[in-house]
Amino acid sequence: MNPGRYVQACVNLPELPDDRLYDYHIPADWPFIPSPGSRVLVPFAGRRAEAIVWGCQEPTYPETIKDVLAVLDDTPLLTPDQMSLIDWLAMRYFCRRQDLLHLFLPPGLKARTEKCWRLTGEPAKMTALLDRLPLPPEVLQDLRKALAGLAEEYTPLPKLPTEFKPYLNQFVEQGFIKICWRPQKPAVNFKTVQAYTLAPEFSRAAADRLTAKQQKVVAFLADQTTPVSTKEILAATGVTASVLTALCQRGYLTKTTLTLERNPFRQPAVPQPVPELNAEQAQALAQIRAALHRGETAAFLLHGVTGSGKTEVYLQAIAEALKLGKDAIFLVPEIALTPQTVERVRARFGETVAVMHSSLSEGERFEQWWKMKNGEVKVVVGARSAVFAPLPNLGLIIVDEEHEFTYKQEEVPRYHAKEVAYELCRRNKGVLVLGSATPSLESVYAREKGELIGLTLTQRVLGRPLPRVQVVDLRQEFKARRFTVLSPVLKDEIAKRLQRREQVIILLNRRGFATFILCRECGQVLKCSACDVTLTYHRKPNVLRCHYCDYQMVPPDRCPHCQSHYIRYFGHGTQRLEEELTTEFPHARVARMDLDTTSRKGSHEQIYRQLVRREIDILLGTQMVAKGLDLPNVTLVGIVAADAGLNLPDFRAAERTYQLLTQAAGRAGRGSEAGLVVVQTYNPEHYSIKALVAQEEAAFYRQELAYREAANYPPFTHLIRVLFSGPDQHAVVKAAQKWTSLLQMALAKLALPPATMEIIGPQPALIEKIKNKFRWHTLLKTKELVLAERLLPRVVQALNRERRQGVRIIIDENPYSVL
Ligand code: ADP
Ligand code: ZN
Ligand code: ZN
Repeated sequence: MNPGRYVQACVNLPELPDDRLYDYHIPADWPFIPSPGSRVLVPFAGRRAEAIVWGCQEPTYPETIKDVLAVLDDTPLLTPDQMSLIDWLAMRYFCRRQDLLHLFLPPGLKARTEKCWRLTGEPAKMTALLDRLPLPPEVLQDLRKALAGLAEEYTPLPKLPTEFKPYLNQFVEQGFIKICWRPQKPAVNFKTVQAYTLAPEFSRAAADRLTAKQQKVVAFLADQTTPVSTKEILAATGVTASVLTALCQRGYLTKTTLTLERNPFRQPAVPQPVPELNAEQAQALAQIRAALHRGETAAFLLHGVTGSGKTEVYLQAIAEALKLGKDAIFLVPEIALTPQTVERVRARFGETVAVMHSSLSEGERFEQWWKMKNGEVKVVVGARSAVFAPLPNLGLIIVDEEHEFTYKQEEVPRYHAKEVAYELCRRNKGVLVLGSATPSLESVYAREKGELIGLTLTQRVLGRPLPRVQVVDLRQEFKARRFTVLSPVLKDEIAKRLQRREQVIILLNRRGFATFILCRECGQVLKCSACDVTLTYHRKPNVLRCHYCDYQMVPPDRCPHCQSHYIRYFGHGTQRLEEELTTEFPHARVARMDLDTTSRKGSHEQIYRQLVRREIDILLGTQMVAKGLDLPNVTLVGIVAADAGLNLPDFRAAERTYQLLTQAAGRAGRGSEAGLVVVQTYNPEHYSIKALVAQEEAAFYRQELAYREAANYPPFTHLIRVLFSGPDQHAVVKAAQKWTSLLQMALAKLALPPATMEIIGPQPALIEKIKNKFRWHTLLKTKELVLAERLLPRVVQALNRERRQGVRIIIDENPYSVL
C-alpha cells in the first residue's frame, strides 16, 4: 500500500447510472499526483474512460484498486470553485456530475490517447527469455529487432505482426515491458499556420548564389520584423511554395508556427456614443456601482418599462466592473433573437467581448474558452450556458429579459441560469442584475421579500410616451359576422402607417395556416398518430404537420374516421395571416418570422437588417417578433389573437400572456413618433389584458400573486414535476404508481407534518403521448426543497431496484410548463 497515492475520480461516461466517484491508484513511479480538476484516463468496466480527479482520499479497500493510465492535462481544467459548484448543481437539479461537465470544459475536448511502452527488465534476462521461445529463427530475429528498437522512455507502440501479441503480453505480465497511455493532440485545437523568418545564419554574401525567385523572397523577408505566413509570402512575392522549401533546406529561412486567431465576427462593431443617463437610470446605476465597490454579494431587479434604457444601465455597470478589474457575464434569452443587444455590447467593449454563439465552429468555441480562462476576455455575452463561462474574476452578471423561459434548460441538466447566476454571485461576492419590463412572478415575489433589491425605470428615454393601447373585442366582430383575421380597425391603422412610410409589427403566436382540422360529420379532430396533439395545416408545402414530432402527411380529402367529405380547416396561423396581409396590402413588403422561416442560420439577423434598412413594411410572426427589436420607425403593433395562450391549462398561462403582450406592445413608438397597439381579444375583461390596456402592471402582479398564493403555486411553493415516460403505457402507469407510493412511504417514515409535501397524482400528463411515448406525472408541492433534494433521488433508486421497464423518470423543479 502506498499512502497518498489515491484519487477519487468522476468517470465521464454518459451511461453510468449514478453519481459515484471511483477510487484509483497513482502508479508508484509517477513523479506527481494529478490535482483535482485534471482529466485522467482510467480503466473502467473493461475499457478506458476519461475521468476528472475530484478528490485525493485514502480509500477503504486499497487492495482492489486499479491504476490510473494517464494524466491528460498539464494543468487542471476545473478550479476547486467550479467543482464545488458542480456538486451543488448536481444536487439542486437532480442530475449527475457527468451531466454537467460539458458545460464547464472546453468544447471538443474528447481525449485521444496512444499506447506507449518502454523496456524495464534487465536485457540479459530478456535475451534468455527470448531464447526459450518456441519460435522459428527468422521470427525470433524480427521480434528481437522490434524489442531492440524500444527505448527506455515511453514511446508509441510500433506496428508489429499480430503473432507477436501473445509474447508481448507475456513480457508485460513478467514486467519486462511497461505500457502507458499518452494524451495526443485533441481533434480541436488552436488554428496554426507555417510561417518564416530569415535565418540568422543568412548572410548578404549568400544572396548572390540564389535564383531570382529566391532573392525575391529573401528581399521581402529582410524587411519584416515578425514571422510571415506562407500564404502572405506567396501573395507578396508571387513565387510557389517549393521556393520556400528550397530556402529552408539550405538553412536560409527559419520555419515557425503561428497561432491564428479565428474571427467569428464578419463585421467589426461600430462604436456608438455613450448617452448621458437620465435621472432614473443614473439612480439605478449608482446603486449597482456602490455594490460593485463594496465587493459584497448583491442582487438587483431592474424593472423598467420597454424602452426605458435598461440596456444602457447594464452597459455602464459592466464598464464599472471592468474598471475594478472584474469580469462580467451578460446573459440574453437567445443570441439569434437579440442581434441589437449583442451589437451594442460589442460596440462598447470591443476586443474584450466574447459572444458565445451557437453558430460558432467547435474550433472557435475552443479558442474562446481558453481566452476566457486566460483572462484575455473580460465580457461574455451569451444564452443561458454562458453563465458557466470560465472567467477568473467574475464580478457582475446581467440577466436581460429575466422573465424569459429560455433561461431554463428543458433537458438534463435542467438548470435555471438565473438561479445559477444568483448562486455564483453569492459564492464570488458578485453583483447580479436581473432586468425586465415584465419580470417573472418569482422575481417580483423575491423583491417583496427583500431578496432582490428593486430598481425602477418608470419612463421611456427622452420623455417618449408609452404606446396607446386600443382593444378590439372579437365577440363584437363575431356578432357582426366578420370572420377575417384582421379586424377593420387594425386594417385601417395598418393602411395609415403604410401611407406614412412607417413600419408595422403584427403578432400571432401560432404558426402554420390552419391550426386544427375538424370533421363536421363525426366531430373528430385530426391528431398525430404518435402524439396526443392536433395536426396543423401548412400551405407551403401543402401538408399537415405535428409540431411535436414533425410528422407530416398529405391533407386527406376524406375524414380518416368516418370517410366523410366534410372536413374543414379552423384557426388562423401565421401563414394565413401572411396571405391575408399580402392580399389586403398588395404593395406592402411583408415578411414573416416564425420557426418555419427562420430554421436557416442567420435568417433572423437577415430579417432584422432588412427591417433596419426599411426594406420591410410589415413584419408578422410568432413570439419572436415581440423580442429585442428596438426600431424607431415602428409605430404600430397589432396583436391578432391576444388570448391564444390564455386558455392553456397551465398555471403560468396568464403570466406568459401578460409578458408576451406587453413585450410586443413595447416594440411600438420607440422613435420620435408616438406608438399605437391594437389588441384583438375575446377576453377583454381578463386581468392580464386589462392590465396591458390600462398600463397598470402593478394591478396585474397583485392579482397574479394572489392567485398563486391561493392555489399554492410557485413562487409560494416549489413545484416539482416527476414525469414518467415510455413506449409501454402499462409500464408507465405502473412505474408512476409505484414511485409515488414509495415516496409516500418514505415521507411517512420521516413522520413530518402532512403539509410538508403535497403529492398530486400520479395522473396522465396533459399531453398524454409525444413521439409514441406515454406520459404520466406526479406533481409535488413543497416549501422544503432540501428535503426533496435528499429524498427524490433515493426514491428513484428504490424504484430502479424494482425494475422500471424502460420507463424514463424526469425530475423537473419549477418547470416552465406542465403540459
Ligand atoms: P430597454 O433596454 O429598456 O428596452 P434601451 O436601453 O434599449 O431600453 O434604450 C432604448 C433606446 O434609447 C436605445 O436606442 C438607447 O440607445 C437609447 N437610450 C438609452 N438611454 C438613453 C439616454 N439616457 N439618453 C438617450 N438615449 C438613450
Ligand atoms: Zn369524420
Ligand atoms: Zn407527433
